[in-house]
Amino acid sequence: MATVQTELIPNYVAGRWHTPSGRDALDVVNPATGETLARVPLSSAEDVDKVVQGAVAAFDGWRRTPPTERIQYLFKLKQLLEENFEEIARTITLEAGKTMGESRGELRRGIENVEVATGIPSMMMGYNVEDIATGIDEMMIRQPLGVVAAIVPFNFPCMIPLWFLPYAIACGNCFVLKPSERVPLSMRKVVALLEKTGLPPGVVSLVNGAKEAVDALLDHPEVRAISFVGSSPVARYIYERSARAGKRVQCQGGAKNPTVIMPDADMDMSLKLIMDSAFGCAGQRCLATSVAVPIGEAQKTFTPMLLEAARSRKVGFGLDPGVELGPVITPQSRERIAGLVDRGVAEGGKVLVDGRQARVTGYEKGNFVGATVLELPQAGGELARTEIFGPVLSVTNAANLDAAIEAVNASAFGNMACIFTSSGAAARKFRYEARVGNVGVNIGTPAPMAFFPFSGWKGSFFGDLHAQGKDAIEFYTDKKIVVERWPKEWSRQF
Ligand code: NAD
Repeated sequence: MATVQTELIPNYVAGRWHTPSGRDALDVVNPATGETLARVPLSSAEDVDKVVQGAVAAFDGWRRTPPTERIQYLFKLKQLLEENFEEIARTITLEAGKTMGESRGELRRGIENVEVATGIPSMMMGYNVEDIATGIDEMMIRQPLGVVAAIVPFNFPCMIPLWFLPYAIACGNCFVLKPSERVPLSMRKVVALLEKTGLPPGVVSLVNGAKEAVDALLDHPEVRAISFVGSSPVARYIYERSARAGKRVQCQGGAKNPTVIMPDADMDMSLKLIMDSAFGCAGQRCLATSVAVPIGEAQKTFTPMLLEAARSRKVGFGLDPGVELGPVITPQSRERIAGLVDRGVAEGGKVLVDGRQARVTGYEKGNFVGATVLELPQAGGELARTEIFGPVLSVTNAANLDAAIEAVNASAFGNMACIFTSSGAAARKFRYEARVGNVGVNIGTPAPMAFFPFSGWKGSFFGDLHAQGKDAIEFYTDKKIVVERWPKEWSRQF
């Protein structure tokens, strides 16, 4: 069992841990046990201003620090993350409810971004052409923006901040993180490790809070760019408000992810991968398969196997061995998920496996929902288009691949879609025609590696440059064009 603490989590301002006093605070609760782990202050606009001013003061010195030196802090951070790997993974499990395997996986994907960002001296190179006119040269150089901020969701407390932080600072920016108020503990640990690297004060700052803190970041004239990951309505709001304030902005939103199972698919492999995708992290992943679309004969082979596997998925506290499915984040989330399953039934759906009454002995206060499978009569129904964000897999049959692709493309979201097949032609058609940002072919959860952008289309993304990889360099730098003449001879006649 976790130890009960009610410490108020401090902000990290100009290299010092500072607890904003006299602010409202929220409990940070272990979703499996109901225990209060800590309290998180709801920072005000004034608190945010202090944080941003600390970052502004650090910027000039940091941008003048050579990139080869800047990345030394990332090498040290990588080392410290490895040394503290188990402890951070455990913190993720305590605050977010994941199994230890899932928390370790999340942290590993986060560390990969630190590794990739150590390549910044090459990645942020510009280009040049000599003699655009005789004796005149032109070059493009990249410069950091200044103070940049990220606002992140609860479902990957560590990995998602690391989609941004390493690239932002390696490019020479000062970075402000606003963690999710539900899971502020693991990034607090990561920032404490960054402090140990000797990173200059103000290069990375932490401001805890919710809407007031977010709005203050969006409106602050010294914040040049905003990265956001979270639900689509908030993503749209943040995109619009930041753009109005003249900021560079990238907002990743929600998802509803279909996976097509062709009759010629390897059913054992497909089942295993789809189970992990749908029910891993209790379905609280923006790349979770949320709709299975078996085609033709696959309805007779895949679906019965799916029901059997879903019934045996072991629910419990993520620190306990053998647990495959942890709790959802809050009791409200649990209620919302149950309500959406009811809505599916009202739309003519049928609950084939019902996890809504899941209880775990010894963890009576946990927000558990067991693996749930809901058959929906039509791909275009309202629930098939609504993000549930829980361990609920809908099944909607489709007559053929064309009908399945039509359903994929009718969705307001465009985060991911997968196909399981042994036909190259079917796979290529799907890859070519599906209007989504991440496609999996015989892959359950096509999460891009750190050196690729994390894409997302339609209502799943607002902006143009994505997180990670080369897009991160584009996002975190301004391009400057310099045209130079040094020779004394004139290259043109006047
Ligand atoms: P959320 O939108 O409720 O919160 C995300 C962040 O926004 C938090 O830091 C929160 O404090 C802040 N916030 C919330 N409401 C706000 C408001 N009205 N004004 C200003 N700030 C506000 O999301 P969540 O519940 O934490 O996370 C789950 C959502 O995130 C799901 O929709 C999921 O699909 C999405 N998500 C998307 C991706 C992706 O890459 N596309 C990745 C992970 C999660």
